[in-house]
Amino acid sequence: MSTMVKSCYYDVLGTTRDATEEEIKKSYRKMAMRYHPDRNPGDKEAEEKFKQAAEAYEVLSDRKKREIYDRYGHDGLSNTGFQGFSGFDDIFSSFGDIFEDIFGFSTSRSRTAGRAGADLRYDLTLPFLEAVFGTAKDLNISKSAQCFECHGSGADPGSDVKTCSYCGGRGQVVQSSGFFSIRTTCPECHGYGKIIVKRCKTCHGTGRTTIEKTVHVKIPAGVETSSRLRLRGEGEDGEFGGPNGDLYVFLTVDPHEFFERRGNDVHCRIPISFVQAALGDKIEVPTLMGTEKLKIPRGTQNATQFRLKGKGIPHIRGFGSGDQIIEITVSVPTDLTRKQEELLLEFARLCGGQGR
Ligand SMILES: [Zn+2]
Ligand SMILES: [Zn+2]
Repeated sequence: MSTMVKSCYYDVLGTTRDATEEEIKKSYRKMAMRYHPDRNPGDKEAEEKFKQAAEAYEVLSDRKKREIYDRYGHDGLSNTGFQGFSGFDDIFSSFGDIFEDIFGFSTSRSRTAGRAGADLRYDLTLPFLEAVFGTAKDLNISKSAQCFECHGSGADPGSDVKTCSYCGGRGQVVQSSGFFSIRTTCPECHGYGKIIVKRCKTCHGTGRTTIEKTVHVKIPAGVETSSRLRLRGEGEDGEFGGPNGDLYVFLTVDPHEFFERRGNDVHCRIPISFVQAALGDKIEVPTLMGTEKLKIPRGTQNATQFRLKGKGIPHIRGFGSGDQIIEITVSVPTDLTRKQEELLLEFARLCGGQGR
Protein backbone atom coordinates (compact mmCIF):
# COMPACT_ATOMS: atom_id res chain seq x y z
CA MET A 1 0.00 0.00 0.00
CA SER A 2 1.07 3.50 -0.72
CA THR A 3 2.45 5.47 2.20
CA MET A 4 1.45 8.72 0.55
CA VAL A 5 -0.77 10.95 2.67
CA LYS A 6 -4.29 10.42 1.40
CA SER A 7 -6.64 13.27 0.67
CA CYS A 8 -9.99 13.46 2.37
CA TYR A 9 -12.48 11.43 0.31
CA TYR A 10 -15.10 14.17 0.48
CA ASP A 11 -12.57 16.70 -0.86
CA VAL A 12 -11.58 14.33 -3.64
CA LEU A 13 -15.18 14.18 -4.86
CA GLY A 14 -15.71 17.88 -4.17
CA THR A 15 -18.61 17.19 -1.86
CA THR A 16 -19.46 17.72 1.81
CA ARG A 17 -19.63 15.33 4.75
CA ASP A 18 -23.42 15.45 4.84
CA ALA A 19 -23.81 14.66 1.13
CA THR A 20 -26.57 12.18 0.28
CA GLU A 21 -25.89 8.93 -1.60
CA GLU A 22 -27.32 10.50 -4.74
CA GLU A 23 -25.09 13.58 -4.42
CA ILE A 24 -22.03 11.39 -3.97
CA LYS A 25 -22.90 9.40 -7.06
CA LYS A 26 -23.39 12.62 -9.01
CA SER A 27 -20.07 14.08 -7.89
CA TYR A 28 -18.30 10.89 -8.76
CA ARG A 29 -19.82 10.86 -12.23
CA LYS A 30 -18.54 14.39 -12.78
CA MET A 31 -15.03 13.46 -11.68
CA ALA A 32 -14.95 10.22 -13.64
CA MET A 33 -16.08 12.07 -16.74
CA ARG A 34 -13.44 14.78 -16.37
CA TYR A 35 -10.52 12.48 -15.60
CA HIS A 36 -11.48 9.43 -17.64
CA PRO A 37 -8.30 7.98 -19.20
CA ASP A 38 -9.86 7.97 -22.67
CA ARG A 39 -10.25 11.73 -22.49
CA ASN A 40 -6.81 12.32 -21.01
CA PRO A 41 -4.48 9.88 -22.72
CA GLY A 42 -1.02 9.89 -21.18
CA ASP A 43 -1.91 12.48 -18.55
CA LYS A 44 -0.47 11.11 -15.30
CA GLU A 45 -2.15 13.69 -13.09
CA ALA A 46 -5.59 12.96 -14.54
CA GLU A 47 -4.90 9.27 -14.12
CA GLU A 48 -4.10 9.76 -10.44
CA LYS A 49 -7.21 11.90 -9.92
CA PHE A 50 -9.33 9.28 -11.69
CA LYS A 51 -8.03 6.57 -9.36
CA GLN A 52 -8.51 8.70 -6.27
CA ALA A 53 -12.08 9.51 -7.25
CA ALA A 54 -12.84 5.83 -7.79
CA GLU A 55 -11.42 4.96 -4.40
CA ALA A 56 -13.35 7.76 -2.69
CA TYR A 57 -16.53 6.61 -4.40
CA GLU A 58 -15.93 2.99 -3.48
CA VAL A 59 -15.87 4.02 0.18
CA LEU A 60 -18.50 6.75 0.31
CA SER A 61 -21.06 4.84 -1.76
CA ASP A 62 -20.93 1.94 0.68
CA ARG A 63 -22.86 2.72 3.86
CA LYS A 64 -20.70 0.51 6.05
CA LYS A 65 -17.35 1.73 4.72
CA ARG A 66 -18.51 5.32 4.86
CA GLU A 67 -19.44 4.95 8.52
CA ILE A 68 -16.02 3.54 9.35
CA TYR A 69 -14.33 6.29 7.36
CA ASP A 70 -16.42 9.02 9.03
CA ARG A 71 -15.47 7.71 12.45
CA TYR A 72 -11.91 6.53 12.09
CA GLY A 73 -10.63 8.02 8.85
CA HIS A 74 -8.24 6.27 6.43
CA ASP A 75 -6.64 4.23 9.22
CA GLY A 76 -9.97 2.77 10.19
CA LEU A 77 -10.45 1.48 6.64
CA SER A 78 -7.00 -0.01 6.23
CA ASN A 79 -7.63 -1.94 9.44
CA THR A 80 -10.61 -3.57 7.74
CA GLY A 81 -8.37 -4.64 4.85
CA PHE A 82 -9.61 -2.06 2.35
CA GLN A 83 -6.97 -1.62 -0.35
CA GLY A 84 -8.32 0.76 -2.92
CA PHE A 85 -7.76 -0.18 -6.54
CA SER A 86 -4.70 -1.62 -8.17
CA GLY A 87 -5.45 -0.25 -11.63
CA PHE A 88 -8.00 0.72 -14.23
CA ASP A 89 -9.30 -2.75 -14.90
CA ASP A 90 -10.23 -3.00 -11.24
CA ILE A 91 -12.08 0.28 -11.37
CA PHE A 92 -13.93 -0.58 -14.56
CA SER A 93 -15.01 -3.94 -13.34
CA SER A 94 -16.30 -2.46 -10.07
CA PHE A 95 -18.27 0.43 -11.53
CA GLY A 96 -19.13 -0.80 -14.99
CA ASP A 97 -22.75 0.27 -14.71
CA ILE A 98 -21.83 3.83 -13.79
CA PHE A 99 -19.57 4.12 -16.81
CA GLU A 100 -22.35 2.82 -18.97
CA ASP A 101 -24.51 5.61 -17.53
CA ILE A 102 -21.93 8.24 -18.26
CA PHE A 103 -20.68 7.24 -21.65
CA GLY A 104 -23.65 5.37 -23.00
CA PHE A 105 -21.65 2.25 -23.74
CA SER A 106 -19.90 -0.38 -21.79
CA THR A 107 -16.28 0.42 -21.10
CA SER A 108 -15.23 -3.07 -20.33
CA ARG A 109 -11.68 -3.05 -21.56
CA SER A 110 -11.95 -5.88 -24.01
CA ARG A 111 -14.42 -8.40 -25.21
CA THR A 112 -12.79 -10.99 -23.05
CA ALA A 113 -14.62 -9.39 -20.09
CA GLY A 114 -17.64 -11.52 -21.03
CA ARG A 115 -20.73 -10.49 -22.90
CA ALA A 116 -24.27 -11.47 -22.10
CA GLY A 117 -26.05 -13.55 -24.73
CA ALA A 118 -28.90 -11.98 -26.67
CA ASP A 119 -32.49 -12.40 -25.53
CA LEU A 120 -34.75 -14.33 -27.86
CA ARG A 121 -38.41 -13.93 -28.70
CA TYR A 122 -40.80 -16.75 -29.55
CA ASP A 123 -44.36 -16.02 -30.66
CA LEU A 124 -46.82 -18.66 -29.58
CA THR A 125 -50.52 -18.84 -30.41
CA LEU A 126 -52.78 -20.79 -28.08
CA PRO A 127 -56.35 -22.05 -28.48
CA PHE A 128 -58.74 -20.28 -26.12
CA LEU A 129 -59.35 -23.19 -23.78
CA GLU A 130 -55.63 -24.03 -23.41
CA ALA A 131 -55.04 -20.48 -22.27
CA VAL A 132 -57.88 -20.79 -19.78
CA PHE A 133 -56.71 -24.01 -18.21
CA GLY A 134 -52.97 -23.80 -18.74
CA THR A 135 -50.86 -26.18 -20.79
CA ALA A 136 -47.31 -27.20 -21.57
CA LYS A 137 -45.51 -26.84 -24.88
CA ASP A 138 -42.25 -27.88 -26.44
CA LEU A 139 -40.76 -25.00 -28.38
CA ASN A 140 -38.16 -25.71 -31.03
CA ILE A 141 -35.75 -22.84 -31.13
CA SER A 142 -32.65 -22.21 -33.15
CA LYS A 143 -30.04 -20.12 -31.41
CA SER A 144 -26.45 -19.02 -31.39
CA ALA A 145 -24.49 -20.98 -28.83
CA GLN A 146 -20.94 -21.54 -27.78
CA CYS A 147 -19.10 -23.91 -30.12
CA PHE A 148 -19.04 -27.33 -28.51
CA GLU A 149 -15.74 -28.22 -30.17
CA CYS A 150 -13.54 -25.31 -29.00
CA HIS A 151 -15.76 -24.12 -26.12
CA GLY A 152 -16.00 -20.68 -27.64
CA SER A 153 -12.30 -19.96 -28.07
CA GLY A 154 -12.43 -20.30 -31.86
CA ALA A 155 -9.10 -22.10 -31.83
CA ASP A 156 -8.55 -25.61 -33.04
CA PRO A 157 -8.33 -27.75 -29.90
CA GLY A 158 -4.66 -28.33 -29.14
CA SER A 159 -3.43 -25.33 -31.14
CA ASP A 160 -1.94 -22.10 -29.78
CA VAL A 161 -3.73 -18.90 -28.93
CA LYS A 162 -1.47 -15.85 -28.79
CA THR A 163 -2.09 -12.54 -27.09
CA CYS A 164 -2.57 -9.86 -29.75
CA SER A 165 0.59 -7.78 -29.96
CA TYR A 166 -1.09 -4.85 -31.68
CA CYS A 167 -3.33 -3.97 -28.72
CA GLY A 168 -1.49 -5.85 -26.02
CA GLY A 169 -4.49 -8.10 -25.48
CA ARG A 170 -6.85 -5.26 -24.56
CA GLY A 171 -8.92 -5.66 -27.70
CA GLN A 172 -9.10 -1.90 -28.21
CA VAL A 173 -6.76 0.82 -29.37
CA VAL A 174 -6.81 4.54 -28.63
CA GLN A 175 -6.51 6.81 -31.65
CA SER A 176 -5.84 10.49 -31.04
CA SER A 177 -6.97 13.05 -33.55
CA GLY A 178 -6.38 16.57 -32.34
CA PHE A 179 -8.41 17.28 -29.24
CA PHE A 180 -10.28 14.00 -29.14
CA SER A 181 -9.13 10.55 -28.54
CA ILE A 182 -11.31 7.74 -29.74
CA ARG A 183 -11.14 4.18 -28.62
CA THR A 184 -11.80 1.68 -31.35
CA THR A 185 -11.86 -2.05 -31.68
CA CYS A 186 -8.42 -3.44 -32.47
CA PRO A 187 -8.18 -4.08 -36.23
CA GLU A 188 -5.81 -6.99 -35.72
CA CYS A 189 -7.78 -9.16 -33.32
CA HIS A 190 -11.23 -7.56 -33.84
CA GLY A 191 -11.56 -6.91 -30.15
CA TYR A 192 -10.83 -10.37 -28.88
CA GLY A 193 -7.36 -9.51 -27.56
CA LYS A 194 -6.13 -12.87 -28.86
CA ILE A 195 -4.90 -14.17 -32.16
CA ILE A 196 -5.88 -17.68 -33.16
CA VAL A 197 -3.10 -19.60 -34.87
CA LYS A 198 -5.24 -22.43 -36.19
CA ARG A 199 -8.97 -22.03 -36.43
CA CYS A 200 -11.51 -24.46 -35.06
CA LYS A 201 -12.98 -26.43 -37.99
CA THR A 202 -16.46 -26.61 -36.54
CA CYS A 203 -17.06 -22.89 -36.05
CA HIS A 204 -14.41 -21.54 -38.48
CA GLY A 205 -12.85 -19.57 -35.65
CA THR A 206 -15.95 -17.68 -34.59
CA GLY A 207 -16.39 -19.67 -31.39
CA ARG A 208 -20.11 -19.84 -32.09
CA THR A 209 -22.41 -22.35 -33.67
CA THR A 210 -26.12 -22.39 -34.30
CA ILE A 211 -27.95 -25.10 -32.42
CA GLU A 212 -31.50 -26.39 -32.42
CA LYS A 213 -32.96 -26.83 -28.99
CA THR A 214 -36.30 -27.95 -27.63
CA VAL A 215 -37.41 -25.90 -24.67
CA HIS A 216 -40.21 -27.20 -22.50
CA VAL A 217 -42.43 -24.42 -21.23
CA LYS A 218 -45.27 -24.63 -18.72
CA ILE A 219 -48.03 -22.16 -19.45
CA PRO A 220 -50.04 -21.22 -16.39
CA ALA A 221 -53.84 -21.16 -16.41
CA GLY A 222 -55.35 -17.77 -17.18
CA VAL A 223 -52.82 -16.35 -19.64
CA GLU A 224 -54.10 -14.00 -22.29
CA THR A 225 -52.98 -12.22 -25.43
CA SER A 226 -50.08 -9.93 -24.51
CA SER A 227 -48.98 -12.26 -21.71
CA ARG A 228 -45.23 -12.76 -21.80
CA LEU A 229 -43.33 -15.62 -20.24
CA ARG A 230 -39.67 -15.25 -19.43
CA LEU A 231 -37.42 -18.30 -19.45
CA ARG A 232 -34.23 -17.31 -17.73
CA GLY A 233 -31.01 -18.38 -19.43
CA GLU A 234 -32.77 -19.96 -22.45
CA GLY A 235 -31.66 -17.19 -24.81
CA GLU A 236 -28.39 -17.20 -26.71
CA ASP A 237 -25.24 -18.29 -24.93
CA GLY A 238 -23.07 -15.60 -23.40
CA GLU A 239 -19.54 -15.06 -24.67
CA PHE A 240 -16.37 -15.42 -22.65
CA GLY A 241 -18.19 -16.42 -19.50
CA GLY A 242 -20.94 -13.82 -19.85
CA PRO A 243 -24.44 -14.87 -18.76
CA ASN A 244 -26.94 -16.41 -21.21
CA GLY A 245 -29.76 -14.30 -22.54
CA ASP A 246 -33.39 -15.04 -21.73
CA LEU A 247 -36.14 -16.46 -23.89
CA TYR A 248 -39.36 -14.46 -23.98
CA VAL A 249 -42.51 -16.23 -25.11
CA PHE A 250 -45.10 -13.76 -26.43
CA LEU A 251 -48.57 -15.26 -26.29
CA THR A 252 -51.53 -14.72 -28.55
CA VAL A 253 -54.79 -16.41 -27.61
CA ASP A 254 -57.24 -17.34 -30.34
CA PRO A 255 -60.80 -16.11 -29.84
CA HIS A 256 -63.52 -18.65 -29.00
CA GLU A 257 -66.64 -18.94 -31.12
CA PHE A 258 -68.94 -18.82 -28.11
CA PHE A 259 -67.08 -17.38 -25.13
CA GLU A 260 -65.60 -13.92 -25.02
CA ARG A 261 -63.05 -12.97 -22.43
CA ARG A 262 -63.39 -9.67 -20.54
CA GLY A 263 -60.80 -9.49 -17.78
CA ASN A 264 -61.23 -12.75 -15.92
CA ASP A 265 -64.93 -13.00 -16.74
CA VAL A 266 -66.27 -14.82 -19.76
CA HIS A 267 -69.26 -13.45 -21.56
CA CYS A 268 -71.67 -15.37 -23.75
CA ARG A 269 -75.06 -14.87 -25.34
CA ILE A 270 -77.85 -17.42 -24.97
CA PRO A 271 -80.92 -17.16 -27.18
CA ILE A 272 -84.30 -18.13 -25.72
CA SER A 273 -87.74 -17.98 -27.26
CA PHE A 274 -90.15 -15.21 -26.29
CA VAL A 275 -92.36 -17.86 -24.74
CA GLN A 276 -89.54 -19.02 -22.44
CA ALA A 277 -88.86 -15.38 -21.61
CA ALA A 278 -92.48 -14.70 -20.76
CA LEU A 279 -93.28 -17.89 -18.87
CA GLY A 280 -89.87 -18.71 -17.42
CA ASP A 281 -87.93 -21.94 -17.91
CA LYS A 282 -84.99 -23.98 -16.76
CA ILE A 283 -82.26 -24.34 -19.38
CA GLU A 284 -78.79 -25.85 -19.72
CA VAL A 285 -75.98 -23.47 -20.57
CA PRO A 286 -72.44 -24.31 -21.67
CA THR A 287 -69.65 -23.20 -19.34
CA LEU A 288 -65.86 -23.49 -19.60
CA MET A 289 -66.07 -26.58 -17.41
CA GLY A 290 -69.10 -28.30 -18.95
CA THR A 291 -72.77 -27.41 -18.60
CA GLU A 292 -74.75 -25.72 -15.87
CA LYS A 293 -78.49 -25.38 -15.15
CA LEU A 294 -79.87 -21.87 -15.34
CA LYS A 295 -83.28 -20.76 -14.18
CA ILE A 296 -84.96 -18.22 -16.44
CA PRO A 297 -87.50 -16.34 -14.33
CA ARG A 298 -90.93 -15.39 -15.69
CA GLY A 299 -90.89 -12.11 -17.56
CA THR A 300 -87.19 -12.10 -18.40
CA GLN A 301 -86.39 -9.15 -20.68
CA ASN A 302 -84.06 -9.17 -23.66
CA ALA A 303 -80.42 -8.40 -22.69
CA THR A 304 -80.93 -9.49 -19.08
CA GLN A 305 -77.67 -10.75 -17.64
CA PHE A 306 -77.11 -13.68 -15.31
CA ARG A 307 -73.89 -14.27 -13.45
CA LEU A 308 -72.44 -17.71 -12.68
CA LYS A 309 -70.00 -17.13 -9.85
CA GLY A 310 -66.52 -18.61 -10.23
CA LYS A 311 -67.23 -20.07 -13.70
CA GLY A 312 -64.87 -17.65 -15.42
CA ILE A 313 -61.12 -17.70 -16.04
CA PRO A 314 -58.64 -18.53 -13.24
CA HIS A 315 -56.64 -15.58 -11.93
CA ILE A 316 -53.13 -16.05 -13.25
CA ARG A 317 -51.65 -14.96 -9.93
CA GLY A 318 -53.51 -15.82 -6.80
CA PHE A 319 -56.67 -17.71 -6.15
CA GLY A 320 -60.12 -18.13 -7.60
CA SER A 321 -61.63 -17.39 -10.95
CA GLY A 322 -63.72 -14.76 -12.63
CA ASP A 323 -67.42 -15.26 -13.37
CA GLN A 324 -69.44 -16.29 -16.38
CA ILE A 325 -71.85 -13.62 -17.55
CA ILE A 326 -74.77 -14.86 -19.60
CA GLU A 327 -76.69 -12.36 -21.64
CA ILE A 328 -80.14 -13.46 -22.72
CA THR A 329 -81.29 -12.66 -26.22
CA VAL A 330 -84.98 -13.16 -26.78
CA SER A 331 -85.52 -14.37 -30.30
CA VAL A 332 -88.55 -13.37 -32.22
CA PRO A 333 -90.10 -16.05 -34.45
CA THR A 334 -90.04 -15.31 -38.15
CA ASP A 335 -91.75 -18.12 -40.09
CA LEU A 336 -95.14 -18.30 -38.40
CA THR A 337 -97.78 -20.80 -39.44
CA ARG A 338 -101.30 -19.54 -39.99
CA LYS A 339 -102.35 -21.10 -36.71
CA GLN A 340 -99.53 -19.47 -34.77
CA GLU A 341 -100.35 -16.12 -36.31
CA GLU A 342 -104.00 -16.42 -35.33
CA LEU A 343 -102.99 -17.19 -31.75
CA LEU A 344 -100.69 -14.20 -31.64
CA LEU A 345 -103.42 -11.92 -32.91
CA GLU A 346 -105.73 -13.36 -30.28
CA PHE A 347 -103.02 -12.66 -27.73
CA ALA A 348 -102.77 -9.09 -28.96
CA ARG A 349 -106.54 -8.59 -28.67
CA LEU A 350 -106.38 -9.82 -25.07
CA CYS A 351 -103.65 -7.28 -24.42
CA GLY A 352 -105.98 -4.51 -25.53
CA GLY A 353 -104.92 -4.14 -29.11
CA GLN A 354 -101.22 -3.83 -28.39
CA GLY A 355 -98.79 -5.27 -30.88
CA ARG A 356 -100.70 -4.06 -33.97
ZN1 LIG B 1 -15.18 -23.91 -32.51
ZN1 LIG C 1 -5.63 -6.69 -30.85
